[in-house]
Order: sequence, then structure tokens, then C-alpha cells
Amino acid sequence: MIAVLKPGTTDRQIENLSEWLKNQGLGVHISKGSIHTVIGLIGDTAKIDEELLESLEMVESVKRISEPFKSANRKFHPDDTVIQIGNTTVGGGSLTVMAGPCSVESEEQVLEIAHAVKAAGATMLRGGAFKPRTSPYDFQGLKAEGIEFLLEAKKETGLPIVTEIMNANHLSLFENVDIIQVGARNMQNFELLKELGRTQKPILLKRGLANTIKELLMSAEYIMAGGNENVILCERGIRTFETYTRNTLDLSAIPLLHELSHLPVIVDPSHATGVARLVKPMAMAAVACGADGLMIEVHNDPAHALCDGAQSLKPEAFADVIAAVKAVRSTCSED
Ligand code: PEP
Ligand code: MN
Repeated sequence: MIAVLKPGTTDRQIENLSEWLKNQGLGVHISKGSIHTVIGLIGDTAKIDEELLESLEMVESVKRISEPFKSANRKFHPDDTVIQIGNTTVGGGSLTVMAGPCSVESEEQVLEIAHAVKAAGATMLRGGAFKPRTSPYDFQGLKAEGIEFLLEAKKETGLPIVTEIMNANHLSLFENVDIIQVGARNMQNFELLKELGRTQKPILLKRGLANTIKELLMSAEYIMAGGNENVILCERGIRTFETYTRNTLDLSAIPLLHELSHLPVIVDPSHATGVARLVKPMAMAAVACGADGLMIEVHNDPAHALCDGAQSLKPEAFADVIAAVKAVRSTCSED
């Protein structure tokens, strides 16, 4: 349920109203928009007397929220969520570009790529230290040492870093990581999501291979229900019957997620297609559909990459993608 307050409602009135609601056993989420303040009620709202609430002088309207996701719902929070990371922001009109290797392979590799992607226009460095691989015989990542190398690259380039967590027991290793990624395979690892909900770290939540948009939003809700509202959604393709591509990029998820939720939406055209030459057209399409950012795999030597070489771009090709994406953005904003 949400209560939209009349313009001009004072902080004192908002505080009194939320105390009254909390005393009825409800969680209260306050969103101050440019004109209206919206109070979102979380929990069993069946016992709330809707007419009584609506009759209060400061209340303009009361609506029940039928969707099972509440904190992630745009009705609770009409303005876009903007997440501050270092001196950059994610969401609310900026274009975040996370780029880097699928996996961190050595200190030299990650430093070279970090400098190259920064020069090409990336705003963040990605790189997997803990790798979820289909085969247990494949490279599993450099783990703690990989995070050290990323931190070194952050120090040298100033780029914030994003890297994947697979086990909540590793959380202490992520202290200086700027964004913690939850990979597609862990989107419904609810214990991990709850643990991340107890932190204040920005979380990049990737859509599962076979998960619906509603399930993605419910997973975001798990993190937010714990008190961490810094969630970034990521569309990275879903599994379909198509075999020319690794997955099928669900472009409609971008405007739909923006309609349903206030959280930023990032698109990963690398894992969505699995094919390096398809990354540019899909990145352009994602930006035209309103994506708040992109996550792109870049490698200095894709042919010898330890993971996902076929979908990785060389730095020059990545620079070309950035130029194309910027052109799309300026064309779209002219309308
Ligand atoms: C990744 O970004 O490194 C990754 C493993 O992606 P996904 O979880 O989307 O497969
Ligand atoms: Mn990868």
C-alpha cells in the first residue's frame, strides 16, 4: 500500500504519520519526490483502515500495490534511484560503462586492460576473481589474489571495480570492492541475497538464465528488504531455443523494468550473445531502449583468454562500441 501525501506536508507531519504506521507493525518507506512524498507500507497492510488513512488531512490518495515486490516498485519510489559510486553515479540519466576481462588472469593482464578501457571511455572496471564455471575442470578464478589485482588496478586508474561474489563467507574480501556482482547463476541464492541485504554495498544483480522479470525484481526485493537499497539490475540474456547466440538478449526488459521499478538497469551484451561481433549492435540497441549502462567484456588477447574469449572485444573494438553508443544516445536525446 502507498499513501501519496499532499504537496507542502511538513517533515514533522511525515514523522508523526510514519510513527503511527510503524506502531501498527508495518515497515515504512519514505520517498521524497520533487513534488510529492510517497509513504510505502511494507508488511501485512490488511489491518490498515484505508478510509481512515485517506481521510487524514495530509494524505492525497491511498493505493494498494498488487505486485509482490514493494521496495523495488516504482510506485513506492517514483523517482529513479541514483547510486553514488566513487565520483561517478549509476542511474538517473548517466551512462555507466563497466568493462574489463571475464576473469582476472594476472596482475599485468588486469592492469593493461584497465588502462586500455579507461582510455576508451569506461567508467568502471569489471573482472571476475571468483568464477562460476559450468565445468569444475575449467579455470575457477584467482579468488582473493584476483581481488588484490583489481584493487591495484583501481589504485592506478581510479576506476571503481565490480566483481562477483559466490559465497557470503567471502564478504570480508569485498570490503574495498565498489560494486558486488551477483551472477546469473546465483540470482536466486536467497541466503546470499539476504546476507548482501545486511550490507550497504551497491549490488549488481544479474538476471538468471531462466528467470522472469518478476523473479528478478523479487530477488532485488530480498536485498532491499534487509535494508540495502543500492541495487542495480542487469539484463544479460535469457536461455531460449536459439543456438547461434549463447543467450537471447531481452531488450523489452529494459523499458519494462524502468516502468516497474526505480532501480537502474544495466545491459550485458557480451554474455547475452556470446559473440564479439554482436556486442556493438546489441549495446547500441540497449542504449536506444534506455539502459542506464553497459557491462562489456574486454580482453587484450581474446584468443588466449582463460574464459569467454569468443565474446571478448579488443580495446580498439571496445572504443568503437563506446563511440557508437554515444552517437545513439545523442540521437535519442534530440527527440
Ligand atoms: C560474469 O559477468 O562474469 C558472468 C559470469 O556473467 P553471468 O552471471 O551473467 O553469466
Ligand atoms: Mn564472462
